[in-house]
Amino acid sequence: MAKPKVAFYWCASCGGCEEAVVDLAEDILAVVGAVDIVFWPVALDFKKSDVEAHEDGSVAVSFINGAVRTSEQEEMVKLLRRKSGLVVAFGSCAHLGGIPGLANFHDRKSIFERVYKEAPSNANPGGVLPQTQTTVDGKELTLPEFHDTVRTLDQVIDVDYYLPGCAPPPDLILGAVTAILEGKLPEKGAVLAPDKSLCDTCPLNDSKPEKVSLAEFKRPHQILADPEKCYLAQGLICHGPATRSGCGERCINANMPCRGCFGPTKGVRDQGAKILSFLASIAGLEGEEKMTDEEVGRLIGQIDDPAGLFYFYSLPASLLKRKNLRQGA
Ligand code: SF4
Ligand code: SF4
Repeated sequence: MAKPKVAFYWCASCGGCEEAVVDLAEDILAVVGAVDIVFWPVALDFKKSDVEAHEDGSVAVSFINGAVRTSEQEEMVKLLRRKSGLVVAFGSCAHLGGIPGLANFHDRKSIFERVYKEAPSNANPGGVLPQTQTTVDGKELTLPEFHDTVRTLDQVIDVDYYLPGCAPPPDLILGAVTAILEGKLPEKGAVLAPDKSLCDTCPLNDSKPEKVSLAEFKRPHQILADPEKCYLAQGLICHGPATRSGCGERCINANMPCRGCFGPTKGVRDQGAKILSFLASIAGLEGEEKMTDEEVGRLIGQIDDPAGLFYFYSLPASLLKRKNLRQGA
């Protein structure tokens, strides 16, 4: 019997999700043995024409990582969507926009100005900017268009499942591949990870006070954090209350607060707003004493880059999606 065809593709990402597949270690042999990999640009020399040659819907599943930033990425994910029975958004960037999505605080014009003209390491006296078409020695060269806005995968194509994480951990990847091969998948649109908050599984949860009181926010480099004590109780902003579990508490175990790469649990529409409202509900309560408005303002002022922090991984997927630079907002 023919093995199911599987494709991997990367869009705007760091490559960590590709590493995560290799991190399956010897388990990758079972995966490779059970499927026919028909596209994996980072590892195998397939071309776009190879993908085009497959019948529509004949690829069992495409795992697509990275956010969508360029016209080439958009074209490829639309092609893979057409060819695939299932599409899995693989990792935080495809799922939520991820770190590349923080570029939505800027636009193409300001990014190009900074990267190609203003950056101190540049040597570009002519101020040349990338062009989608240019002629060199009579030959026409093309580049993909760099879109103004970073989008999540499901803002471009229909997505069947989401594998969260920066990067998704090997046990979740293996669980997803096994579920697909055995046809034991949950309802369409599901995130293939537990629907509990990270605090529920965190080893520091026992030290999380019933009601955390915060009179001061600190950043991880400003204190020597106690690895045995809930970070929020130490004044460090931790996204655990607003983040889905399943990562193995990787950051917590490395003595760092969570930054939210698994995204929100099912009932939460906007992860950044959720962490903000959680912090607002606990900040400044000493016993039953309430802070004055000025004290609250001073406390919030201690948070460096609040929008970037609260939407660390999820700006394109949020209600905000991007900063509206044209209206000066
Ligand atoms: S807030 Fe962070 S450190 Fe505290 S219990 Fe939740 S995940 Fe753990
Ligand atoms: S602790 Fe948070 S940021 Fe770190 S891997 Fe887990 S979900 Fe992602």
